[in-house]
Amino acid sequence: DSFESANLRKYVLDNILKSGYRKPTPIQKHAIPIIMNGRDLMGCAQTGSGKTAAFLLPIINTLLQDVRELVVGSNGCAEPQVVIVSPTRELTLQIFNEARKFAYGSILKIAVAYGGTAVRHQGDNIARGCHILVATPGRLHDFVDRSRVSFESVRFVVLDEADRMLDMGFMPAVEKMMEHPTMVKPADRQTLMFSATFPEDIQHLAGRFLNNYLFVAV
Ligand code: AMP
Repeated sequence: DSFESANLRKYVLDNILKSGYRKPTPIQKHAIPIIMNGRDLMGCAQTGSGKTAAFLLPIINTLLQDVRELVVGSNGCAEPQVVIVSPTRELTLQIFNEARKFAYGSILKIAVAYGGTAVRHQGDNIARGCHILVATPGRLHDFVDRSRVSFESVRFVVLDEADRMLDMGFMPAVEKMMEHPTMVKPADRQTLMFSATFPEDIQHLAGRFLNNYLFVAV
């Protein structure tokens, strides 16, 4: 019932404490060990439950535990190791800022991509190489279609607020990412999906995108 018992590296623990978090929320308590054990996860949790840290902390811990060289192809195509998609610019920025907070002072590079703003600055950051890319599905594909981002180094995929992405019409873009020719196969990556609700269509997507997953509802 504490972050200390979660087997996180001291580095990550220190950044949690700096954030002022003293105790894991229920989704954090249940999801962190599952993700640290390498399993896929379907998490039912609302905004405000602490779900962002529930996936960011074990992901950042794994990236620091088992560091893999950052690849940027000679053609300038970045190969992020973690791709996190969420439905809105606001949520994407929140996840990005929280990731920066938890990875602060580490080697990890984090980039963000969302629509409604010029591609150039975001593109320059991505092109420098990023371990973690947080994006809205549409803007992600702007970069993928221009061969600025590919998925062959992916270790984690996170689909946040899957029910809202479905409602907002982003599923074709999410499917395009999951089925992209460069995307690492389900058994060779970890896929984490979060949704506030778990209706039949989301269950169906979990069955398609996740591999032998565990289910947590809070
Ligand atoms: P989220 O559900 O991820 O959007 O998080 C909701 C809010 O709770 C955010 O402002 C987080 O910074 C905060 N938060 C997340 N986990 C904890 C925790 N264990 N203790 C205190 N605050 C937290």
